[in-house]
Amino acid sequence: MADFQSMGVEALSGVGRAKAKALASVELESVLDLLTYYPRRYIDRTNQAAIADLVDGVESMVMARVDSVFSKRLRGSRSLVTVGVSDQTGRLRLVFFNQPWRDRQLSQGQEVVVFGKLDRYRGQHQMTNPIVDLVGDETGRIVPVYPQSGKAGLQTREIRRWVDEILRRSEQRGISDPVPDYLRQRHDLIGRHEALDSIHRPETMDAQYTARHRLVFDELLRLQLKLIMHKRTVERAALGICHDISGELVDRFTSSLGFPLTRAQGRVIGEVVEDMARPVPMHRLLQGDVGAGKTVVAVAAMLTAVQGGHQGALMAPTEVLATQHYLGVRSLLEDLVVPASDSLLAERPLRVALLTNQTTGAERTRIQDSLASGEIDIAIGTHALIQAGVGFDSLGMVVVDEQHRFGVEQRAALRAKGSQAAAPDVLVMTATPIPRTAAMTVYGDLDVSTLDEMPPGRTPIATRWAKTAADEAEVWEQVRTEVGRGHQAYVVCPLIEESDAIEARSVTETYERLQADELAGLRVGLLHGRLTAAEKESVMDLFRTGAIDVLVATTVIEVGVDVPNATIMVIVDADRFGIAQLHQLRGRVGRGDQASSCCLLAADAVGVAAERLRALVETTDGFELAEADLELRGEGTILGERQKGRNDLQLASLRRDKDWVVWARQAAGEMLDDDPYLQRHGELRAEVELLLVDDDADYLMKS
Ligand code: ADP
Ligand code: MG
Repeated sequence: MADFQSMGVEALSGVGRAKAKALASVELESVLDLLTYYPRRYIDRTNQAAIADLVDGVESMVMARVDSVFSKRLRGSRSLVTVGVSDQTGRLRLVFFNQPWRDRQLSQGQEVVVFGKLDRYRGQHQMTNPIVDLVGDETGRIVPVYPQSGKAGLQTREIRRWVDEILRRSEQRGISDPVPDYLRQRHDLIGRHEALDSIHRPETMDAQYTARHRLVFDELLRLQLKLIMHKRTVERAALGICHDISGELVDRFTSSLGFPLTRAQGRVIGEVVEDMARPVPMHRLLQGDVGAGKTVVAVAAMLTAVQGGHQGALMAPTEVLATQHYLGVRSLLEDLVVPASDSLLAERPLRVALLTNQTTGAERTRIQDSLASGEIDIAIGTHALIQAGVGFDSLGMVVVDEQHRFGVEQRAALRAKGSQAAAPDVLVMTATPIPRTAAMTVYGDLDVSTLDEMPPGRTPIATRWAKTAADEAEVWEQVRTEVGRGHQAYVVCPLIEESDAIEARSVTETYERLQADELAGLRVGLLHGRLTAAEKESVMDLFRTGAIDVLVATTVIEVGVDVPNATIMVIVDADRFGIAQLHQLRGRVGRGDQASSCCLLAADAVGVAAERLRALVETTDGFELAEADLELRGEGTILGERQKGRNDLQLASLRRDKDWVVWARQAAGEMLDDDPYLQRHGELRAEVELLLVDDDADYLMKS
């Protein structure tokens, strides 16, 4: 692989400066890039139709020659390209709207494969916006189609010729296979040379699948080796605190709660505490659906640190959330005393403080001083906790809530607030459930604990999808009824990507309309990202204390807001939200013992958007929804949006290759148990370093 990497594409026959430039435009610079530039799909020519046999309205594939290309500007910035093609049996017209580049892509004499539906325009047969592949006069039965080649001015045939050349020229020496035999046997994998050959020029469609499995396994194995090695390196390098877990503070805390722990909470607290006693710093992700009771776990972790004479910190992404956590944690800890050697009674009350950017002046100085002296046991706050000037006496446990809002630097900064000698343990909490296999890749360098059980006695949230104007009218009536019963309501307006200002304007309009019309007479409040922190806080206070009946808000209420008296949520234009976000939002109701409901307003949701809404109506289980989300996202590539650049994860898909993720993780773990630095698997190690560019790994480890 390193040899292939060191060879530029110019080494191939027929690649001159122009072709090299075209290849570079799709990030194909080395021979290795080309070899791992896999076909996007295959044309199985046994399915080919003749032009004369095409039937109106039926999707078909024809192979034809381009006779003419004619391009025309339409009104506005629209364009029309008309292309005439023919085969031995007849002629066909192709029309392309708003694809002006077709004029450059297609020229007379080219062989093309056309997929499309025959339709009729003014009595004449044509195909409108068909898929066109430039295959040239291919002879194989199964023809690979490479991604993006058309736009870059490259022909599939050329790419195939270069790949052929690479494979032919390496035949004698062979392409090495770094995966040990026992793994190949265990998973029934073909050799790598054969796999590379078959993925580019399969004899049959089956051969292509077998090849794909092999190459997917390679990608996932490299990824898991990298993630697990990273995790173990961090563990080896950093010295953690061996927390003393023998005290009874955590037990006293849990028995002071008005409820028994769920089994899941008990198990997860056990996992956390056990980690904390170990000499390596904990790096654990706690995932649990909204309302699963993560706060109790976080407090138990911080108390474990406090009991041994250290401090705990809890960092939340927003002012509102930090304040809420502070109030929540303080009430959970009321009356709890901690052992104190210097006091007459050998115990003293636990001290909890809130530190945000709103904390200023003398108050701030006082808190900073007592954090530094160790007088404060538990600090709760926002980014303010990691600012310069804030120092801890002995920070032993850091909890970060809602991880996706924090960057890796911020977590690192908080960790650095620990003492020089030992790094604090870190627990990252997220309320966004992700499927198990996704957790293995996206959080592959963390240990994962899962709260997969809800506290008892929750009344499920009834969710309905309001499609018509009549449905919507009923929804507002329902809001009035709930308010009439002394309950409160949320109205959530959609995210507007373009700008905060537009979003604020749109939510303000909805607010004004509702107040004047559907919800006239009710006390309606407004909350959006453009308000100052103080304004937000005051609106939230009014809502919390019941002085406002209905809160019209943007997604600023998405995380953590806790008002148990709110029993109904209306989500406006619900089709503009993703599943995870809708689920998060919905979690804001159903937090008390009252039956709650969620109404999704979406008049014209179709396709995937409709599927998403249907999933929300059907289940409130976050893990089920996460699976549904993955399915609906289609290919679900591991690197997600970062797919733009070239990377090592070309083929593996979280949706299609779930089993392979598990197998690769297991294989990587075994291999590293046995050979921690891959000294006996030198070639594999070299490939991990060569192929998994740090960017990719960083991306995965950033959260
Ligand atoms: P999360 O942060 O996971 O969304 P919270 O920690 O805010 O959930 O807990 C949600 C609510 O459930 C809180 O009011 C909390 O007091 C309550 N709760 C937590 N654990 C239990 C339990 N084992 N039994 C009953 N109620 C619980
Ligand atoms: Mg929470």
